[in-house]
Amino acid sequence: MFDKLHEECGVVAIYGHPEASKLAYLSLYALQHRGQESAGVSSCDHRHIHTHKEMGHVADIFTTSVLKELPGPMAIGHTRYSTTGDTALLNAQPFSVDCNKGKIAVAHNGNLTNAVELRQDLERRGAIFQASSDTEVILHLVAHSAERTLTGALRDALLQIEGAFSLVFLAEDRVIVARDPHGFRPLAMGKLEMKDGKTGYAFASETCAFDLIDAVYLNDVQPGEMVCVGPEGVTRERFAPEQPRSQCVFEHVYFSRPDSMVFGRSVHESRENLGRFLAREAPADADIVVPVPDSGVAAALGYSSESGLPFRLALIRNHYVGRTFIEPSQAIRDFGVKLKLNPVRHLLEDKRVVLVDDSIVRGTTSRKIVRMMRNAGAREVHLRISCPPTISPCFYGVDTPTRNELIAANNSIEEIRRYVEADSLAYLSLKGLARAVKDDKSEYCYACYTGDYPTDLVSVAQLLATSR
Ligand code: AMP
Repeated sequence: MFDKLHEECGVVAIYGHPEASKLAYLSLYALQHRGQESAGVSSCDHRHIHTHKEMGHVADIFTTSVLKELPGPMAIGHTRYSTTGDTALLNAQPFSVDCNKGKIAVAHNGNLTNAVELRQDLERRGAIFQASSDTEVILHLVAHSAERTLTGALRDALLQIEGAFSLVFLAEDRVIVARDPHGFRPLAMGKLEMKDGKTGYAFASETCAFDLIDAVYLNDVQPGEMVCVGPEGVTRERFAPEQPRSQCVFEHVYFSRPDSMVFGRSVHESRENLGRFLAREAPADADIVVPVPDSGVAAALGYSSESGLPFRLALIRNHYVGRTFIEPSQAIRDFGVKLKLNPVRHLLEDKRVVLVDDSIVRGTTSRKIVRMMRNAGAREVHLRISCPPTISPCFYGVDTPTRNELIAANNSIEEIRRYVEADSLAYLSLKGLARAVKDDKSEYCYACYTGDYPTDLVSVAQLLATSR
């Protein structure tokens, strides 16, 4: 029914700018790291909703001629990493419908934990689904709602869905955005000051999108809040009772860009803290600190400044690796990793290295990188991971494999060390992680490190996913 439960995505919404679709496209450009499989933009010129979505990268999809077909002062956009096989384009977003509540388009970052039950119920009531993405469920709930107004129907739909959602909706005369009551995924609000003195608004998963389009970051859409921007101005309302917050800590560990503000704090600052605390908790007798680029860079900087060991960029990343490459028929050992990363022999020869990365998932990448360092002359490799061991899959929108495939779910740290062939291995503690993001009020979700999920996972799909 649902191809895949784990969707990593980026969303954007623009209101009140003559070139809204262009700003949405530029924002998606800045959010490309949140999903590389497909991207789409819907715009509205007060009469029609125009949508263009394709498989591939933002830069390749949106040409001048494509953007010309997306007119109007309002737009939403989506970039997606997910799914396999033929259904992938069908599941690309935004989804757009013309229903009894008018023309609506939606884009979603997150994962609904009760999508299976809702879909079965809707199908019993005659709903026909085109895609296997849980986002389509939301549109059906809106269409089926007994509420007469769009905002009423949205409120109704939002109260029925559970799990993680940062949603952007486009209607004929307005943009509406909402964030789930736990606030799993980020959603920031910004202001666009135009030359003619008019004000527009922008919403995006991360503030790095605002920097590119000259939007000023105002604040976050609050958990459980719906913000509506239309001809009457901006209205903000709480659609659900207050719940404990469960902001995804992995956004700060890995997922977001370091130049973004996420959940109101600098991602770079969090990552440097992760590295600093890691250096305190797990020092190493070594000569240099080397990050796995790009994910380990900020943490390695923190580790280096705390430990006093020099920071060296001794692994170089090729940023132009596409999705397909032609491998020689005679196998080259560790080809995939070699294509992406290459060591600087000059910096590594005879050195004892602290290698810093953000996480070990299956362990295969770390093992290849450790080998690569040794082949380039490193005498010792001490692997340091800037978060605790990943032991549980995410059901709130981060792509993690099943528990069976998570190396830390099934092995001790010493067993993992042996597998990745490091001289020593240490992870940051849970306490260290919480301190690094200044989680004084217990507002973050750590389920991937603890297995304690902040919501009920009643959906059959969750059970299927864990046993897959
Ligand atoms: P693995 O070989 O499975 O241990 O992969 C670990 C690498 O994957 C690390 O270098 C991480 O930066 C990266 N990584 C961790 N989590 C994710 C994720 N959810 N999506 C994509 N890459 C990830």
